Amino acid sequence: MAALSQKALIASVPTQLFIGGKWRDSSTGATIAVEDPATGATLTQVADASVADGKAALDAAVAAQADWAKVPPRDRGEILRAAFEQIMARKDEFATLMTLEMGKPLAEAHGEVVYGAEFFRWFSEEAVRIHGRYAVAPNGATRLMTMKAPVGPTLMITPWNFPLAMGTRKIGPAIAAGCTMVVKPASQTPLSMLALAKLLEDCGLPKGVLNVITTSHTGDVMEPIIRDPRLRKLTFTGSTGIGQRLVEQSAEGLLRLSMELGGNAPFIVFEDADVDKAVEGAMLAKMRNIGEACTAANRFFVHEDVADEFATKFAKRMGALTVGKGTKKGVEVGPLIDGKARDGVMELVEDATAKGAKVLTGGAAVAGRGYFVQPTVLADVPKTARCMTEEIFGPVAPICTFRTEAEAIERANATEYGLASYVFTQDMARTIRVAEALEFGMIGINQGVISNAAAPFGGMKASGFGREGGFEGIEEYLETKYVGIAL
Ligand code: NAP
Repeated sequence: MAALSQKALIASVPTQLFIGGKWRDSSTGATIAVEDPATGATLTQVADASVADGKAALDAAVAAQADWAKVPPRDRGEILRAAFEQIMARKDEFATLMTLEMGKPLAEAHGEVVYGAEFFRWFSEEAVRIHGRYAVAPNGATRLMTMKAPVGPTLMITPWNFPLAMGTRKIGPAIAAGCTMVVKPASQTPLSMLALAKLLEDCGLPKGVLNVITTSHTGDVMEPIIRDPRLRKLTFTGSTGIGQRLVEQSAEGLLRLSMELGGNAPFIVFEDADVDKAVEGAMLAKMRNIGEACTAANRFFVHEDVADEFATKFAKRMGALTVGKGTKKGVEVGPLIDGKARDGVMELVEDATAKGAKVLTGGAAVAGRGYFVQPTVLADVPKTARCMTEEIFGPVAPICTFRTEAEAIERANATEYGLASYVFTQDMARTIRVAEALEFGMIGINQGVISNAAAPFGGMKASGFGREGGFEGIEEYLETKYVGIAL
């Protein structure tokens, strides 16, 4: 198929609500503008769902649940497999769309499309491996049997930073497990999800299994769905503050919950590390997604023996990156999502430098259109700097030094968050010791990217609970029923 022009690509994406297998306008006729963060220009308008539309979406998911749960696992898996193939065949379209609405460079958008599609492939395989068990009770008198059942209608709320993958890693296991769903993508990046819904429709997903609503009245539309007794599960990826609010709202219905929240990843480089490998890892851990990732390295702790070498090499690599509109060839760093995000990142840089941090490279926003920030490395960052406790969500790397392993671990754990962490060392015993001591759901050893559809992604502490991907991912969408049989 010939490549679509960007205009034709945008025009090919449905912009209505997808409810009960039908594409339709919002009941109020209202729309939301979708902006290109590299230029501020409006790309298109999508439907702005009302509270009534939200209820209609849940009605459709509830109506489809019983029949969907009876569809053979192999058939559910085949839909996911077909969708995986289709996404891969249309990789360029999905990547361009994502870059236009979110800003990340095309190469990274390609990476996300492949990563996102992998969840469909993985869960197409998991759909046929849902098992219960059979056991003789300890007293020998009864038999214990467990069976799995889909949790039921699920609400999925996703963020703007990974517009496709944050959706597929929820939708994939839900389809595999036999759950129906209402998906609400972030208002700033709805197009990838709408294109995905159309693709799943074309792959034969039955009406009502997947419903997608876009809305600017987010809290008002989501809360009645969350409080509706027919909803059985809420899965949320986004900020910790909103996640906490949603947990409160879900208490009424005692919903099954998965919360993928914020992070504040430490990146530890020990004195025995391969420094070049650590710099390579730092580039990925910091700069993937322009630093707008929950897994992004937020605090760099480097042993004082190798700190100068690491900081010099890292700053050189960061300073050489090409910043610009993500669709342009050769661009490695795109804009941040909006002006508020850019200003927030700059405030953290100014706070750190005012408290004594040294700028090794970058340190400023880029003047002109779009919301660009120069890739920045800060050295000698004091503990009191806000960037040491707050999620930066941008291309800024603060470095501090340490002397002992115990100190590195203590500082790394001194955060309310517990999502990703990175450790560079060549000592196997240290690897095990440190991995056991770190209070994080994910630990990358000598690597800067740890996300993988086959691994359990998720956090501890204020980073939330629940796991996406791996064998654990499908369990989040399954109930375990126990049947006791007297002989
Ligand atoms: P956010 O503001 O919490 O928004 C996330 C989603 O929640 C969006 O769809 C948003 O809709 C929706 N939302 C906002 N207010 C809501 C409300 N009152 N009720 C229900 N839904 C509501 O987060 P963000 O700024 O988009 O994303 C960045 C955050 O996500 C960071 O903290 C990052 O670490 C985290 N994140 C975590 C993971 C993970 O797996 N742990 C992955 C990616 C991102 P609107 O767009 O309409 O506001």
